[in-house]
Amino acid sequence: MADERRRYLQQQMELGGAEVVFSKAVRRSGGQAVEPSEEQGAPIRPLKRAEIVAPSPTGEPRWRKGAPPLPGPGLAIESPGHALGDELLALRTLDEVAERIRTTHCCVLCPNRIKAVPGDGNPQARLVLVGEGPGANEDAQGKPFVGQAGNLLNGILEAIEVPRESVYITNIVKCRPPQNRKPLPDEIAACIPYLHRQLEIIQPKVILALGSTAAEAMLGVRKSLGELRNKVHTYNGIPLVVTYHPAALLRNPNWKKPTWDDVRIVRQLLDR
Ligand code: URA
Repeated sequence: MADERRRYLQQQMELGGAEVVFSKAVRRSGGQAVEPSEEQGAPIRPLKRAEIVAPSPTGEPRWRKGAPPLPGPGLAIESPGHALGDELLALRTLDEVAERIRTTHCCVLCPNRIKAVPGDGNPQARLVLVGEGPGANEDAQGKPFVGQAGNLLNGILEAIEVPRESVYITNIVKCRPPQNRKPLPDEIAACIPYLHRQLEIIQPKVILALGSTAAEAMLGVRKSLGELRNKVHTYNGIPLVVTYHPAALLRNPNWKKPTWDDVRIVRQLLDR
């Protein structure tokens, strides 16, 4: 049954159809653009490991059919480790970083938060996903991607047979910007050292930047998503792939197919 569902999700992404992965979320929003504040996330059923590793009857993973080849290299970025400061470097675990985020005000976003959203997931994750910043649901719950965009993200991860509980998910800024506006450069500058430290601690095999805000902030450039996609950048030597933000996919289903290609590139990098 789980296998059938995954096959269906993959087919829908392959075909650019809007039945499962995307349409459920879009239907809930009445087909309108969905901002994080409008997200009404359905509960997420974590996949059981047996559901995830089940091979297809042919032994070939289903996501592999028609997967694009690995693209060429993009930008090579070294994180500004020296700028982290002794205080951050003294934080040895993700829990310590999270506690620091929750108990500190580092920019104007912090006093207005309900909850800080440091990040969530497996401390030994091989894949780290980086979004823009918390929306209303995330602000209320203190966890990233728990709303409608999060449901979509779960479907995408499921389609490449990567369980959500195996990855780590975080954002560029850890507190919700008002009205879900894009975080401003000084807010990003104040908060991004936490992300750098989280990545130093996790040492993932692959990083996936979700959307242009995350991609630009991580790569330290101002470029369009089109220019940044379909390349394997490196961040401190770790392959970094850029794709559309799930909320953008809810607005524009035409971006589903390129996203499906991007995440299959990620999947291949994980398998290397
Ligand atoms: N959008 C983001 O960029 N991050 C979240 O955590 C939720 C929505």
